[in-house]
Amino acid sequence: MDTSAQSGTNFIRNQIEEDLRAGKREEVITRFPPEPNGYLHIGHAKSICLNFGLAQEFNGRCHLRFDDTNPVKEEDEYVNAIREDVGWLGFDWGEHQYFASDYFEQLYAWAVELIGKGLAYVDSQTPEQIREGRGTLTTPGTESPFRNRAVEENLALFTAMKNGEFPDGAHVLRAKIDMAASNMNLRDPVMYRILHAAHHRTGDSWCIYPMYDFAHGQSDSIEGVTHSICTLEFEDHRPLYDWFIRSLEIHNPQQIEFARLNLSYTVMSKRKLLQLVQEEHVRGWDDPRMPTISGMRRRGYPPQAIRRFCERIGVGKSDSWIDLSTLEDCVREELNETAPRRLAVLDPLKVVITNLPEQRIDTRAANHPQRPEMGTRTMSLTPEIVIDRSDFLEDPPRKFFRLAPGKEVRLRHACIIRCDEVIKDDSGEVVELRCSCDPETFGANPADGRKVKGTIQWVSTEFGQQVPVRLFDRLFVEPTPERAEDFRQCLNPESLQEVRAWVEPELGQARPGTVYQFERIGYFTPDTKDSSLDAPVFQRTVTLRDTWAKQQGK
Ligand code: ATP
Ligand code: MG
Repeated sequence: MDTSAQSGTNFIRNQIEEDLRAGKREEVITRFPPEPNGYLHIGHAKSICLNFGLAQEFNGRCHLRFDDTNPVKEEDEYVNAIREDVGWLGFDWGEHQYFASDYFEQLYAWAVELIGKGLAYVDSQTPEQIREGRGTLTTPGTESPFRNRAVEENLALFTAMKNGEFPDGAHVLRAKIDMAASNMNLRDPVMYRILHAAHHRTGDSWCIYPMYDFAHGQSDSIEGVTHSICTLEFEDHRPLYDWFIRSLEIHNPQQIEFARLNLSYTVMSKRKLLQLVQEEHVRGWDDPRMPTISGMRRRGYPPQAIRRFCERIGVGKSDSWIDLSTLEDCVREELNETAPRRLAVLDPLKVVITNLPEQRIDTRAANHPQRPEMGTRTMSLTPEIVIDRSDFLEDPPRKFFRLAPGKEVRLRHACIIRCDEVIKDDSGEVVELRCSCDPETFGANPADGRKVKGTIQWVSTEFGQQVPVRLFDRLFVEPTPERAEDFRQCLNPESLQEVRAWVEPELGQARPGTVYQFERIGYFTPDTKDSSLDAPVFQRTVTLRDTWAKQQGK
C-alpha cells in the first residue's frame, strides 16, 4: 500500500497560482458540491479542505452548493447534517449557500435556448433503445430517428414534457453533439428526463429534472466559479462540461480533476454506508466506527486532526491508497498536545496496600506533562486500589518491569509498592494482591532516587468511579473491503467491545467534548448520545500507538 502518496503536494494550488499570474483569472471562487443523499465522509473532507482551503489561501471564497437535481434520494436531514459537518470542520461559506434546484428556471431557459440553436432535441425512443444506440467504446453510436426533429416540434414537445403531459420515460431531451464521438459522453447525452416525483425543495413544481452533466457546469457558471474541482472520474465529462458552457456562451469555470481519497479498512460509497446503517451493522450514520464526519466527531477526532490529515496526504492526479493509520496518527498527534491526562484501569485487579500510613494520602498530579498551564489535580491514594490485570504477572519473564511477587513498581503520581502476597480464588485465579508501600517515595515527581523501572496506573476504589468504556476497533478486517464480493463479509466482529473500567473520581462528571488521555492506554471521550449527567459512557477515540500493525504481524 502506497502511503507516501504525493505527501503534501498540491498541483491545483500551482495551477491556480499560474492562472492568477497569467491574468487568466482575477479571483478564486471554488465550491463544494455535495449531493444531499447521505452523510459526508472522510473522502468529502478531502474535497472540503481542498476547496475551502484554496479559497482561503487566495483570498477568494468557497460556496456550499447542494447538488440536488435528483428528487428521489434527497432529504433535508442530509442538508442539515452536511451544513453541520462542514462548519464543524472549520469552514464558513458565509452567505454563499446555494442549491442547484435554485437554478431550475435558468437551466430550463438554457435548454430552450439550445433547442432554438439546433443543439438539443427531444428523443422519443425507449430507454433501452437509447442505451443501445449509444454504441460501445469500440463501435460508434447510431443516430436516433428523432434527431432531426424541427426546432418548433422540439420546443412544443419539451414544453409538454414540462407541463406534465407525458409519463416518466416517454421522452428525454438530448444534446445534439456527435454520435460517433470517441468520448461516449459526447454521444448526444441526455439533458432532461421526465420524473413525476416531489423534490425536497421545489415540491411538485417540476416533473422534468436536469441530469447532473447539464446542471453542474451551469451552476458553477451562474455562481461565477473560477475553478471547479472534482474527482478523476469526471475527467471524461470535461469536454461535455465545456461544450455546454461554450454553446450557451456563458462564464467559463475551469474544471480540474484530482484523485479521490481511498482509505484502507474503510468503505466510502454512500450506498454501502447507507447499507451499513439500514442493515444495522452499525448504530446510525454517526456511529463512531463509521468513516463519516459525524462519526469521527462523535468518536472524539478533533477537526484539526482531519485537516492535518487532508494536508498531509496531498492532492494528486493518480489514484492511490492511504493507510488508515495515517489518519489515526494525525488524531494522536493532535490529541497528544491537547488531551488532559488521567488514570484509568480497564481490566481491574484489586490491590490492598497494607502499610499505608494514613487512610488517604493526597498528591498533586500534572494534567499534561509538557503543559503546566493545563494545571494539576489531586490524586488520593487509599488502602484499596485497582491496577490493570496485565500489569501483574505471577511468573514474569526476565524483562517484565511491572508487578510480580516480591517485585516493586511505581504507582503513577504516588509511591513505590512491593507485592508481598498473591491471593487466589478456588479456581486459582488471582483476585487480590497484598502490597506494602515505601513511605519515602510519595509524590508526583519520582525524583527520590529509587531505581524502579516500571510505572503503572491505578485508581482508588474509595474515590474512583466505575464507568462503561467502549473499545472501538476497525470496522473491517480487510484492507480493501470495497473490492470484496460482499463487503459485509469483511466486517470485524470485534469492532465494538464494552468493558467496565475504574477511572479517576472527576471523570465521573466528564462531559462530551473533552478527549482525555488515559495514561498508557489511549485517548477516550464520553459519548455524546449515550452519556447522561454524572453517568458518562466512555469510548476509545484512538489507541496510544498503532497496535493494529503489530497485531497483523507487519
Ligand atoms: P455519490 O456516490 O452519491 O456520487 P459522492 O461521494 O460522489 O457520492 P457527492 O455528494 O457527489 O458524493 O460528493 C461531493 C463532492 O465530494 C464531490 O465534489 C466529490 O468529488 C467529492 N468526493 C466524494 N468522495 C470523495 C473522495 N473519496 N475523495 C475526494 N473527494 C470526494
Ligand atoms: Mg457524486
